[in-house]
Amino acid sequence: MSRIFKSEPDQLKLEQLFSSDEKCLEFLSEAKWKNGFICKKCGNINYCPGKTPYSRRCTKCKTEESATAGTIFHNCKFPVHKAFYIAWNVCKGREEVSTYEFARRLSLRQMTCWNFKTKIQQALKEMDSLSDNERESIQKILQ
Ligand SMILES: [Zn+2]
Repeated sequence: MSRIFKSEPDQLKLEQLFSSDEKCLEFLSEAKWKNGFICKKCGNINYCPGKTPYSRRCTKCKTEESATAGTIFHNCKFPVHKAFYIAWNVCKGREEVSTYEFARRLSLRQMTCWNFKTKIQQALKEMDSLSDNERESIQKILQ
């Protein structure tokens, strides 16, 4: 259950991710465009910064892609650093953390935590039923 986080950030980096939305977006943007930017619409590789932090905007067709687009963090209704904390613990955690415990630690509603945890578990389960090739392409998006 470790496919969303392929790389293992060190403890200091993790603590930054768990406390700052901006660090999370930076992390997602680095993972997503590790091999360079390619516009999903027109294939252009040149970009300028978009409106939201760490988003990128195609210089040709002006399509903007946020750092969270195509990841489980997209359209997340609560701060992304809290979502990161849940995702990390579900994927990498040594102990099973209940959604009540997540809610307590993150000052979120238990239902919110339950919904997000379910979403992650669903994504992980779906990946288990894919072929290696399919998984590889999704990994790039989700990691
Ligand atoms: Zn474009």
